[in-house]
Amino acid sequence: MNKMELGKKVIQTIRRHGYQAYYIGGCVRDRLLQREINDVDIATNAFPEMVMKLFAKVIPTGIKHGTVTVMINHIPFEVTTFRKEGSYEDFRRPNEVQFVPELYQDLSRRDFTMNAIAMNEQEELIDPFHGKEAIQRKEIISVGFANERFLEDPLRMMRAIRFASQLDFTIEQETWKAIVSQASYLQYIAPERIKIEFDKIMKSGAPEIGIQQLFQADLIRWIRGLNETGITAIDVNQVAPLIKKTDDYFTRWSIFLHMLLDEKRLLFLKRLRFSKQEITIMKKIDIAYLLFQESINEVEIKSCLIQMDVSCCLKGIDMLAIIKDIQPDKKRNWYNCIIAINQELMVKEVKDLAISGQDLIQLFKKPPGPWVNSLLQELLEQVVFQGLTNDKRLLLEQAKMSKEGKEHEK
Ligand code: ATP
Ligand code: MG
Repeated sequence: MNKMELGKKVIQTIRRHGYQAYYIGGCVRDRLLQREINDVDIATNAFPEMVMKLFAKVIPTGIKHGTVTVMINHIPFEVTTFRKEGSYEDFRRPNEVQFVPELYQDLSRRDFTMNAIAMNEQEELIDPFHGKEAIQRKEIISVGFANERFLEDPLRMMRAIRFASQLDFTIEQETWKAIVSQASYLQYIAPERIKIEFDKIMKSGAPEIGIQQLFQADLIRWIRGLNETGITAIDVNQVAPLIKKTDDYFTRWSIFLHMLLDEKRLLFLKRLRFSKQEITIMKKIDIAYLLFQESINEVEIKSCLIQMDVSCCLKGIDMLAIIKDIQPDKKRNWYNCIIAINQELMVKEVKDLAISGQDLIQLFKKPPGPWVNSLLQELLEQVVFQGLTNDKRLLLEQAKMSKEGKEHEK
């Protein structure tokens, strides 16, 4: 059973108890577009406490906002009580929501007409804002007055642009004008929420559209904290077509960041709240890019492979090929070369060596300290670059020689 069919079970259960329930939002839109459905959201006039009683496994994810998550076959379904949102104080998500009896009111609080369509279990649409027509015309149109709706929640401006990138839709004229005129209000939105939408642009089928629009509407200037990174000086017409040339999320971001000064890249990532893990990957891609920029031969490839996994090496090559406009067959050769060397390279990390830190501590009868790792690192380089055999006895001998040599130098 697919997600929509399982969702129907949820709808039927709620209806059997005398309440209304509809598919709503993104799943209805994507169904009409015959696109793959991300998550199935359901709207109902039953209160959350009631919904919780109707299903065996329910998580009270956002009970204050009327949302509970019903789990069926390990798939989550968000069931939200019809609501309208109170005032948006300080542009945060409203603290309080007001439950309303009518589906119409729930639809009218939604962002765009294509997202304000409900569908019942017989797949009939309730579409008071003509969202289906907007979908057919591939248009993103605010529900109600665009100026007011963006002022209420400025994140919607980012959402409009991310939907344009994901769906290859155009933003309707009045809606676009409102984005341009309200752009500065984006400064009130938390970077965490902005990153989610920016990421979706980067993962979309047409990131170049979203990136261009973020600059055209000047939204980029108003993302909190990014001003100091020099972002507004990026030549978007140069970078947007380059980003389109890869499907990989990290390579896309790396190409974009490459347009900033070296010392500003980390600031950008931190300000936009990238995770430590994401930052590490991006740093590695940048290291690979810089290394390969010099030249690409066995030494560079090996030194790249001992610093990072092969996938980051390849992303670095992709980035180089895109930025320097390298021919595909040349890139393919580099790829093959990296993969072959990676397979040959039996020893890639210190932990692949036939000796451990403990062995060195015993050998030199010295307390553990940073010297252990630096000696292991030195031995690793000798194995990788100078053909030293990865054998315990030989490594210990080499360790003695290195250490003695160093002590002699002192
Ligand atoms: P996706 O496929 O990315 O999940 P979606 O349209 O389902 O797209 P969600 O963020 O999951 O987007 O939100 C679900 C629905 O909630 C939307 O379709 C829209 O109706 C409504 N919605 C979400 N965010 C907002 C917002 N900031 N303002 C108004 N309505 C919103
Ligand atoms: Mg969704």
